[in-house]
Amino acid sequence: MQKIQFFGAAGGVTGSSNLLTGTNTTILIDLGMFQGPDDTGSLNSIPLAIDVNKLSAVLVTHAHLDHCGRLPLLVKQGYKGKVYTTQATKDIVTVSLLDSAGIAQENGFPLYSAQDVEELVNLIEIANYDQSFKVGEYEITFHDAGHILGSASIEVKNNQNQTIVFSGDLGNTPEDLIKPTKYINNADYVVMESTYGDSTHTDEDPAQTIQQEINEIEKTGGVLLIPAFAIERTQEVLHIINRLKNKGLVKNDTPVYLDSPLALEVTEIFKKYPNLYNPQTAKESNPFDFSNLKIVESVSQSKSIAKDHGAKVIIAGSGMITGGRILHHLKNYISIPSTRLLLVGYQAIDTMGREILEGAKQVLINDIPVTIRGTVTKIDSLSSHADLPRLLTWLRHIQGVKKVFINHGEKNQRESLAEKIKTEIGISDVILPEMNQIFEV
Ligand SMILES: [Zn+2]
Ligand SMILES: [Zn+2]
Repeated sequence: MQKIQFFGAAGGVTGSSNLLTGTNTTILIDLGMFQGPDDTGSLNSIPLAIDVNKLSAVLVTHAHLDHCGRLPLLVKQGYKGKVYTTQATKDIVTVSLLDSAGIAQENGFPLYSAQDVEELVNLIEIANYDQSFKVGEYEITFHDAGHILGSASIEVKNNQNQTIVFSGDLGNTPEDLIKPTKYINNADYVVMESTYGDSTHTDEDPAQTIQQEINEIEKTGGVLLIPAFAIERTQEVLHIINRLKNKGLVKNDTPVYLDSPLALEVTEIFKKYPNLYNPQTAKESNPFDFSNLKIVESVSQSKSIAKDHGAKVIIAGSGMITGGRILHHLKNYISIPSTRLLLVGYQAIDTMGREILEGAKQVLINDIPVTIRGTVTKIDSLSSHADLPRLLTWLRHIQGVKKVFINHGEKNQRESLAEKIKTEIGISDVILPEMNQIFEV
């Protein structure tokens, strides 16, 4: 008999965490941060209902904060055991948690310190894709989830040969940079995400939209602002611009400023893992580099971009315009009619990105009202998440499934996916767990 408990992403998309308890082994899978409006944020500071002394190991599916952002709380509570991640996930988790600790410190709500992050990182052991290892009564295997660099779905088999699969986040496979999602063949129980459980991605070509945006500012001498998501999305955008420049579809001398320290660090990590790229990207020698790519490091360099006149592209964090250097660029340029703002990812409720996307005429940047006169465009097709057809395809590959738990989705997404799993795959036992709920399997 074993038990699965849901500590987050149950009826929402953030705070992912599951506890699996067997006869004498207890494993935690992910410990993500709750993100979003303040009421969800405060969930992060509630003490963990986990006895860290009873934990046999912690497994981490991938480096997005909604899966790893609370991990340092474990060391604060005295955890000294092993934390398993892939090598690329370890690298990205390290820079991303340090960045998150730094931002929280600046905002005056630190959940943990840089030292807690370092202690956590010291506990990390590397799990290689497709190579199983033992933790107590469990045999564990990480499979490439094709979502972001280093991402994994995790297969856990007990000594009775019962298998549980935790999907983690599944990729919008095949993706531009990384390898496709690796399908899993057998499992008794599946815990799966449902972020886009009610929709199908459009087949709009993001390269075409980015080309049009750059061509437009090349004509007018304006500025194209791209709020950057540091992990995966920035590298995808750089790769697209690399191809557009190589094909002569945008001008070689149009400067592109990469003005996000975190995105820059993650791009350097990407360069270390060409073995994780898909075959096409692996053939390219510098997929993230091109003529007139300008790396911006210090804040003063960032501010002096304003002195460079003429058409230019500025990629700066944060992706939903909730902070970071994009704020001062927005303040400088968004009131100029020739400016273009290109949103390349999901814009959550209560973010400035969402406000602008919904047509705000004015926004407050550091308490100063700024009028929006530029053109706002959004690309919907750059997603790192599987849509409904891809979620169903992934599940259909797994034979012998007795029960599916659907997490990591809002109400509509979970219900839609559950319905399709019943009607199209024929698995009738589908559960939508609530926060803290425990199930025996
Ligand atoms: Zn993710
Ligand atoms: Zn996620």
